[in-house]
Amino acid sequence: MTVVTENEVTEVLAKVIVPDQNNNVIALGLISGIVVKDGMVHITVETTQERATAMEEVRKECEKLAGNMPGVLNATAVLTEEREVPRADENPVPKLDLTEDERRLKAEGVSTIIAVASGKGGVGKSTTSVNIALALSRLGKKVGIMDADIYGPSIPRMMGISGQPRSEDGSTLIPMENYDVKCMSMGFMVPEEEPTIWRGPMVMSALEQMLRDVEWAPLDILIVDMPPGTGDAQLTMAQGTELAGAIIVSTPQDIALLDARKGLNMFRQVEVPIIGIIENMSYYICPKCGDEAHIFDNGGAKETAEKYGCTFLGEIPLDKEIRTTSDAGRPIVVSKTSSPHAKAYMNIAAKIIDEIGQIMP
Ligand code: ADP
Repeated sequence: MTVVTENEVTEVLAKVIVPDQNNNVIALGLISGIVVKDGMVHITVETTQERATAMEEVRKECEKLAGNMPGVLNATAVLTEEREVPRADENPVPKLDLTEDERRLKAEGVSTIIAVASGKGGVGKSTTSVNIALALSRLGKKVGIMDADIYGPSIPRMMGISGQPRSEDGSTLIPMENYDVKCMSMGFMVPEEEPTIWRGPMVMSALEQMLRDVEWAPLDILIVDMPPGTGDAQLTMAQGTELAGAIIVSTPQDIALLDARKGLNMFRQVEVPIIGIIENMSYYICPKCGDEAHIFDNGGAKETAEKYGCTFLGEIPLDKEIRTTSDAGRPIVVSKTSSPHAKAYMNIAAKIIDEIGQIMP
């Protein structure tokens, strides 16, 4: 199968003209994100509220052209009104104008809400969220997982869940459930086929519904799989939800770590404690000889954790079985319980419980 790269998608998007500006979206700097994984392409198109209607055509065109590329199974483009979060040593994060009530968005009967975040897409954040949630459940906790990833919710598939949540009373939803873990997804909350600009207030109302109108209780821990990056939507979630703490997932490549630092800073600035950093796709174990190969310079996440004074929770290798099991809806923590990878996730989960104990004694 042809493997599509971000550069190739960029080349194709350079053909998308914004009619009233007589130039293409790339030249105009309107594409703020391209994520390519497994033949799926996610594109983020910048707009402002005033230009939303005009930009909807542009969004569709991006989706169409990227979707027609050989090797692309599906392409989605979303409109966002992005606001980059400055680094800690630059200007402070612009605080959102949230009421006291909004800032305390929490779910009834849920003791601890933990965000799992990454500086950019494709680092394995969702895979890690799911395996960690299942590991926490195997350690005896009552666990839920909430898929807040606006770019393409993947948690239900990884959890082996399909269909729609039901409601018995017409106002609250019963979360879906598998492997003893409750699950809800952003994908259930938004109507399809409608132009969606993921601006702060809209993210907030989808979040609010998922937290308040879902029968989560009783839960010890709710894992929230955040959208990748550090834009407006992420900031709103970080700031508006009563999070006990955040976990940052990163790959060892330096560039990803730079992004990971942005993620760290975002939570720091809104005073959410960092529970720790997980390095994913850290090393590769040769299936034939068992040799460990550090394809990327590993150890970067550990160094970053030390530098920032937060806990290094552990590393997960790059392994085909981790991918195939979660793609098949049978994550490795529940399907191969005695594998070294399942044990790695279990160790991380135990550390998370420890860390939460320290944050919330
Ligand atoms: P993100 O949520 O950061 O966008 P995903 O969790 O969707 O990333 O992972 C992206 C791809 O990488 C998926 O196909 C997933 O199966 C794969 N993947 C994630 N972690 C690993 C790993 N440790 N080893 C092998 N493949 C992985």
